[in-house]
Amino acid sequence: MRHSFFGGIHPDDGKRLAAASPITALPAPDQVVIPMSMHIGAACTPTVQKGDDVRLGQVIGRSEAAVSVPIHASVSGTVTAVEPRLHPNGQTVMSVVIANDHQDRLDETVRSHAAEVEADPKRLLPLIKETGIVGMGGATFPAHVKLSSALGKVDTFIINAAECEPYITSDHRTLLEHPEEVLAGIRYILKLLELPKAVLAVEGNKQDAIEGLRAKLAGSSDVELMVLRVRYPQGAEKQLIQTVTGRQVPPGGLPADVGCIVMNAFTCYTVCRMVQTGLPSVERVVTVSGPGIESPSNLLCRVGTPVRALIEAAGGFKGETNKVLMGGPMMGSAIFDLDVPVMRGTNGVLAFHAEQNKAKENPACIRCGRCVAACPMHLQPLYLYAFERKGDVAGLKKLNATDCIECGCCAWSCPGRLQLVQAIRNAKALIKRSS
Ligand code: SF4
Ligand code: SF4
Repeated sequence: MRHSFFGGIHPDDGKRLAAASPITALPAPDQVVIPMSMHIGAACTPTVQKGDDVRLGQVIGRSEAAVSVPIHASVSGTVTAVEPRLHPNGQTVMSVVIANDHQDRLDETVRSHAAEVEADPKRLLPLIKETGIVGMGGATFPAHVKLSSALGKVDTFIINAAECEPYITSDHRTLLEHPEEVLAGIRYILKLLELPKAVLAVEGNKQDAIEGLRAKLAGSSDVELMVLRVRYPQGAEKQLIQTVTGRQVPPGGLPADVGCIVMNAFTCYTVCRMVQTGLPSVERVVTVSGPGIESPSNLLCRVGTPVRALIEAAGGFKGETNKVLMGGPMMGSAIFDLDVPVMRGTNGVLAFHAEQNKAKENPACIRCGRCVAACPMHLQPLYLYAFERKGDVAGLKKLNATDCIECGCCAWSCPGRLQLVQAIRNAKALIKRSS
């Protein structure tokens, strides 16, 4: 039975710009800059030095922390620097810079793992860890940690192919062009979890991909294709679980608390590629789109490629670009330097003009309540905003500010154009500092 989640919005999804653009492989750049922090958890320490020769797929950074994953060279060549470089988050982060020799000489660890995973499905878990696979939908949480905490505890495996962020079509194109690899990745994970069936949840605006998947799944019962009504933020983990199962993850809880694990469709594709070829997480499909891009595209590129190269490959800017985002317009963040690198979790690079910027100089709340109706987490954004302005930490805690998933539904709905998400982000920081 299909369920639904509370709140949500229906923004113009803008997906028509890039949805028909096939995935094109972008040539690896002459130089990649690979940050030692591009996942949730502990940053890695570089394991290579300036002057070292590295091979494609070689580990170049590692951390012994429980929540972390190794980082790998996305090209072969020579390490030219190990130093702090600008990160898309606006800070400088220790990075490994590699001059590409354009030979793609593979590291000795890059070999098919299909036979060993076939013989022992449990081998998948350490392989996922060692090859640096994280949530590729943007969350970047280490996949092995999520899977370990789900083993023996969950009865439902959901594949998140909602891709509800406007403009982004990288998962859509992957489902359409690589359904076998996505399904194979799902089946490897199913065997690891010892579950009989997975639910592949896709929003109904990907009709061509849905038809292709239906054809591939004809006669099989291990993957149920569930077509969802288009509504943002359908792809948020808690909302997706509620839509698919009717179960509600408790505040502060995890999907495993209600017997579920959710993994992104591109993560499943990456798992398949890793098992079959041994390639660690060194590439990803990025949608380059928005009204400010000449030829919206879906580009397969190496981790560490500068954003500038993607924009050039998509024909450059169209008109006077006012803002460039990494990620979608709802949850992405603005970048201020086009030389920042693509990371494992980068699903989109979007460019917008000034007229798409709805910010107002003197925003004012008119108490219309639209933000409350739109909030999928049952929060009261207008009061969170007011308490944040006053620095009222006790009030913010009482209103469960930390439950906010920063989906942006409130800000999108607000006729007063209040910067609600920024205020709530700051409110969460205030709470963290006070505890
Ligand atoms: S950003 Fe936070 S407060 Fe605003 S709608 Fe989303 S969950 Fe609710
Ligand atoms: S939507 Fe904006 S104007 Fe309306 S109550 Fe919420 S904060 Fe105030």
